[in-house]
Amino acid sequence: MDYKSRQKRLREKLATTRLDALLVSHLPNIRYLCGFTGSAGFLLVGPAGSVFFTDVRYATQSREEVEGARVVVARGSPLVAAGQWIAAERKTARSQWTVGIEAEHLTVAARKQLTDVLPARVRVRAGSPLVERLRMIKDAEEIERIRAAVRLGAKLFDRALEVIKPGVKESEVAAEMEYAARREGAEAMSFPSIIASGPRSALPHGRASEQAIRPGGFVVCDFGVILRGYCSDQTRTVWVGAVSDEARRVYEAVRQAQLAAIEAVRPGVKVGEVDGAARKVLQRAGLGRYFAHSTGHGVGLEIHEAPRVTASGKQEALQPGMVITIEPGAYFPGKWGLRIEDMVVVTSSGREVLTPTSKELIAI
Ligand code: ZN
Ligand code: ZN
Repeated sequence: MDYKSRQKRLREKLATTRLDALLVSHLPNIRYLCGFTGSAGFLLVGPAGSVFFTDVRYATQSREEVEGARVVVARGSPLVAAGQWIAAERKTARSQWTVGIEAEHLTVAARKQLTDVLPARVRVRAGSPLVERLRMIKDAEEIERIRAAVRLGAKLFDRALEVIKPGVKESEVAAEMEYAARREGAEAMSFPSIIASGPRSALPHGRASEQAIRPGGFVVCDFGVILRGYCSDQTRTVWVGAVSDEARRVYEAVRQAQLAAIEAVRPGVKVGEVDGAARKVLQRAGLGRYFAHSTGHGVGLEIHEAPRVTASGKQEALQPGMVITIEPGAYFPGKWGLRIEDMVVVTSSGREVLTPTSKELIAI
């Protein structure tokens, strides 16, 4: 990974803000910028260079992993060490200096810990999500890692199809998929697996429960792995038993909505248009009000990241290198629901669907 050029781009962005430096505290952002994969650290990115602060547990690991930054191993809190470092650097300076913090990722208590050791001439300001903006556009190496994670993730659905049958608990299906994931080299699941059967399939986020699968309903399987740091995310929904006409009709509408949204993905298109493409198909089928969540989200080092593929909020335009999910669904509370989700990379000419799994309705 080209950490130095990532830090260079961040510096260029910083130069356009009123911040003199950025204290990065969100671990995925730290990993993105300098390669550190541990659980305690702060990266100070200033105009002249970067300094990484961690504690003694990570003395060896940080020296092995961190690129493009000087490493400081603190005896106590790495945050306090970062503050003391800044204080020492600015000791003789007369001018005001402003360090940005990641407002969405630093607690109020941590902010106080920092300001307590800083001199009055150093101000702390909440910065905008600068690193998240950089992370939206994946480079070739990241896309290769995501591709590998998606491929491994897709294999788990084959395992689910072997296991799903009436009488089997949702948690057993999840367990078999997660065991297969670890056997294949996944570091972890990218989120708690969703295996939601019968009326629970109407819960968009129904985690696998003790519920036994019964015939005559959908089973929503939403799952993903983390492989070499990068996440996959996929949903397939199967029917158990003889498929009713209504279930077939709703499934087909969701499938068409998903295909329409994928078709809309290309550089320059606003995320709202992609969301609208899915919503329009479902509205025409009379299902608009049964699709309440947004159409998708970015995926990378984190399972949910920018851009959000939504009708409202910031209307981001798609750019080559963005990796997003397309996941419309329809949910009838108390009855059943379904969702179909693929991961898609925006290319210079359009899009490439990364998820290899078929979307034809499967009845078990
Ligand atoms: Zn998902
Ligand atoms: Zn998703």
